[in-house]
Parts: sequence; C-alpha cells; structure tokens
Amino acid sequence: MSKITVIAGGGPAGLTAAYELLKRTDIQPIVCEATDAIGGIAQTYNYKGNRIDIGGHRFFSKSERVMHWWFNILPLQGAPAADTEELGHEIDFAAEAVIEYLCPECLPDDGVGKRNGLTVRRKAPDPEREDQVMLQRPRKSRIFYRKNFFPYPIAITLTVARRLGLWNTFFIGLSYIKAQVSPRKDESYLDAFFINRFGRRLYETFFRDYTEKVWGIPCSEIKSDWGAQRVKGLSLKRAVTHAIKDLLSSDFKKAQEERETSLITRFYYPKFGPGHMWETVADQVRRCGGVVRMQTKIVGVQWSVVRDPEREGRRQKAVTAQPLITSVTVENVDTGEREEISCDYLFSTVPISHLIQMMHPVPPSDVVRVASGLIYRDFMTVGLLTRKLHVEEKGKEPAPMAPDNWIYVQEGQVRVGRIQIFNNWSPYLVADRKNTVWIGLEYFVNEGDELWNMPDAKMIEFGISEVEKIGFMREEDVLDACVLRMPKAYPAYFGTYDELEKIREFTLTIPNLFLVGRNGMHRYNNQDHSMLTAMTAVDNIVAGSEDNANIWEVNAEQVYHEEKKPS
Ligand SMILES: Cc1cc2nc3c(=O)[nH]c(=O)nc-3n(C[C@H](O)[C@H](O)[C@H](O)COP(=O)(O)OP(=O)(O)OC[C@H]3O[C@@H](n4cnc5c(N)ncnc54)[C@H](O)[C@@H]3O)c2cc1C
Repeated sequence: MSKITVIAGGGPAGLTAAYELLKRTDIQPIVCEATDAIGGIAQTYNYKGNRIDIGGHRFFSKSERVMHWWFNILPLQGAPAADTEELGHEIDFAAEAVIEYLCPECLPDDGVGKRNGLTVRRKAPDPEREDQVMLQRPRKSRIFYRKNFFPYPIAITLTVARRLGLWNTFFIGLSYIKAQVSPRKDESYLDAFFINRFGRRLYETFFRDYTEKVWGIPCSEIKSDWGAQRVKGLSLKRAVTHAIKDLLSSDFKKAQEERETSLITRFYYPKFGPGHMWETVADQVRRCGGVVRMQTKIVGVQWSVVRDPEREGRRQKAVTAQPLITSVTVENVDTGEREEISCDYLFSTVPISHLIQMMHPVPPSDVVRVASGLIYRDFMTVGLLTRKLHVEEKGKEPAPMAPDNWIYVQEGQVRVGRIQIFNNWSPYLVADRKNTVWIGLEYFVNEGDELWNMPDAKMIEFGISEVEKIGFMREEDVLDACVLRMPKAYPAYFGTYDELEKIREFTLTIPNLFLVGRNGMHRYNNQDHSMLTAMTAVDNIVAGSEDNANIWEVNAEQVYHEEKKPS
C-alpha cells in the first residue's frame, strides 16, 4: 500500500470510506476515532448486557447500493427471531445469503455454505443460532399526549377526532380555515410554515412543543427547511381529504386502518443494534490491513499550497501550485501524546466547526467565521431497566407493555422528547427480555446546560419522575439505570447554516480533502447519506477526479423514512 488516507471519525461515513478504499484501491486507510466506541451516533452501548441504540436507528434506504452493502455485511434473517411468533410479527424471511468478503482473512472458518473465491453462498442465517444477521422488524411509533395515543405523523381519522374531543376538533377546523383565509406571507420560519398547513390550534397541539424540545429555541426562530423536510406532502387539507375519502369508501373501517398505517411499516435492524453493523465493518477493515485507532483524536490538519508534479502532469493547463492536505496531528486521548501522520488524502467526518478551527494555516477569515457560527444540538438518553411499564391510556386498564419501537412525548410540561422501547427493536438487545422492559428516555439538550451537567443519579431520578408524571411507568418497577451523552447529535439549520456555501467552496479548492457524513457536511441526515457521500468520495479517487462537488449533491431524503408512497 503506497498511499495513505487518514479518516477522521469511526462512524458510518468513516468506516464506509475505509471499507471501500480497501475493496477498490491499494490505498491504506487509517481511521482515527476520538472515543472508545465504534459507530459514532450509530453506535450501540452495552450496559450490563442491555444494549442502547442512541436514537433508534432504522436501516432503510432508497439506495440499492446501500441496501446491498448492508446485507453483504449482515445478511437478512432466514428464520424467526426469539419474539416473532409470540408477537405475531409478519416477516419476509430470506432463503439464501450471498456474501462477498473483503479479503481471505475475513472469510469465516465455519465451513458453512459454498465458496467461490471471496464469495460465500449459504442458507440465510437463523438469528436464534447465529449472530451475524440482520433482522426485519415491524415499525410502530405513536404520539403520547394527555394519556392518549395518536398516529405519527398525525392523520385525521375518526379515532383521532374522538381522542382530541369533538369541540377541540371543531376549533382545530376553525383555526385551519382562518389560516387558509389569511395565510402568513412569509413562510421562511417554522411556525408560519406549520400554521399555514395545519392551522394554529393543531400546530400548538402536535408540532410546537416537540419541535421546540428538539431544537431548544422557539419555532419562530427555526428556518422552515427542517420542517419542510419532515412534513413534506403533509397538511391538514390532505389529512381531511383522506378522512372524507374514507367516509365515502364502501369499507370505511378498512380505509381508516389503511390510512393509519400509511407509514413504512417495516425496517431492518442488526441483531445487536446499529453498532453491531459498524463493529463488524471495523473488524473486516482491520483484518484486511486497514488501521482503526481508538481514543485517537485529530487535533491538527496541516495544508499548504504545494507543487505536485504528478497532479500537474495530469492537467491540461499548466497549474503551478495547488492547496493540499499534507498531514494531520493526532492526540492519544488517554495519554495526551501527540503525533503527526503524513497523508495523501484526508476524509473528515468531524464537525465542520472543529475541522476549520484546527487547520493550519488558518483558512480565510470568512470561512472561519461561518464555521465557528455553526450550531449543534446535543442528546442524552436515560436507560431504564424496569419490570414492566404502566401505560395509563384513557378508558383502558394500565398496560405493562406497549407495541411501539418509539413514542413521541408531546407534552410541554416534561422535558423528555421520546421514549424508545428497546425490546421492540430487537429482542436480543435485552438481557432478560421476558421479565424486563428496557427503555430509553431521550432528551434534546445543549452541551453544558443544566441537564447535560446533571450528575447521573439525579438525571435518572429526574427521568423517572417525568415518565411517572405522564402516566407511562412507575418508580417502584425500576431495576437499574444508566445515562448516555452524545455531543453534536444534530447539526442545526440556524446559526450560520445559511452561509455553509462558503465552507463548501473553500474546502472544494483542496482536492485531497473530502468532507463526508453528517457533521462532516453539517447535514441532518440518515446513515445512508453518510455512506453514499463516503462512497462518492472513493469513486472520485478511483476515477482520478479532483472535483469533489458531486459529494455535496448526494441526496438521500429524510421523508421516505416515514411515509409509504400512497398507492
Ligand atoms: C436521535 C437520532 C436518531 C437517528 N435515527 C436514524 C435512523 O433511524 N436511521 C438512520 O439511518 N440514521 C439515523 N440517525 C442518523 C445517523 O446516526 C447518522 O446519519 C450517522 O451516524 C452519521 O454517521 P457519520 O459517520 O457521518 O457521523 P457520526 O456518526 O457522527 O460519526 C462521526 C465520528 O467522528 C468522531 N469524531 C469527532 N471528532 C473527531 C476528531 N476530532 N477526531 C477523531 N474522531 C472524531 C466521533 O466520535 C464519531 O464517532 C439518527 C441520528 C440521531 C441523532
């Protein structure tokens, strides 16, 4: 391996880049990960055999390339999981798995299946007997509001109207008409965007508090880009039109049920959570000669305008000099020891604000200003291991369990934004799934704020008091708990986000620097986008192209993770 690529960050983007480089080039990847966890935001934390997914990661993509890639690492299940029968899940099992391994060292030595070079053709794995397997899971997520469940995204059905109360529904209708008669002209901020589509009353019931929990600022200060992405194609008009169509349909009940399940109802999920995917990839990268260095933080990026005869030779016009990354400085997080690594390429998945800050010489002042003005939202999870839930739904007996993967907590009186029920993501996330429920209370916070700094024991107490308050669980059932903090989980679409173009333009002048991934490009994305940006960067290297603008054109929409296309 003659050339070296340093990859800053061992999340989905960084590991995809390392894998693709090993598969398609003879360039040596060196992944430097600042923490002791593989997978970045898509890691899985193991607390005494109970695993936490930071956010709940559905594996789903419109990109064939990504889906194929995932199934090549963890093939789809060929037999039921531990809970399939008991919960009556309908799963499409695979019959066969065809896996193309990265190198001979990655080939398993279990003698299973037929081999042809690096390709193994075998019976699809049984999750009860094997670990390297992707599960297919049913999706259910609802809004819990004042001890009632509502569909997410909100749909206007008879049940919803009944739960909201008839008067309330009537006023929601009036407020919608008002918004239609005199819509707000300027829709550039979220409050106006939502009100024009749903009316003020519905906006205040189902959108305002949750959105403000996520971003920590009023909707009137959040650019509508984010809302537009989340509720694309959704409006009260559409919801009501659907409701009327249902009323006129010959089978009203069936039409209503179909409408309530107009969501993507299944997704894929590694047996042990998203981190399982990325730990497997990291393992293969290491076996094939790539380097993955943990607790190794990139603290300096050296670049200079250098003459590169090889590059000059390839150009039509004579170019005398070109800005290039020459080396990075890494720091061992444990010992503080520093080291300089010369590199031919740098893939950066670190937050843009950090990257620009650590570049020497200092980039142009405008670029530094925009980078330092980028804003992030941070994330905390309180993991609670409990004997059972105690979900108090109006008109029903308290339920010891709920069928949801995750639940949106709409109430403004509590800080918890969502509740994950990890048993429903994969039965293998929970050490004793038959006798315990393993949940995650999710908080959107700012690094250094009151909740972020709260000692773990107090935070656990606070979390328990909140879920008791909304009628979801009882303190006496809690067996164990832990707290996780994830900095910079959400790149915000405010601050200097509007001027991101300046960063893009500057970094594109350095052809051996590749900004990829979520914070690497300051993009509110899913894993598939991070992976596709890394793949595109490697495509460029393979093709010998020095124009990396196509990485910024990679588009993987958020919205398809939510709704099915109407049939
Ligand atoms: C709550 C939540 C729910 C989500 N749900 C889904 C979902 O359902 N499906 C889905 O596909 N996606 C989901 N995502 C998005 C998904 O987590 C991201 O798209 C993905 O993790 C981004 O990968 P990445 O490699 O670009 O960045 P990251 O995962 O952020 O990885 C970057 C890595 O770089 C490391 N790093 C940072 N600075 C340095 C440094 N100076 N030196 C070395 N290393 C450094 C970090 O420690 C981290 O490990 C969700 C995200 C959140 C926050």
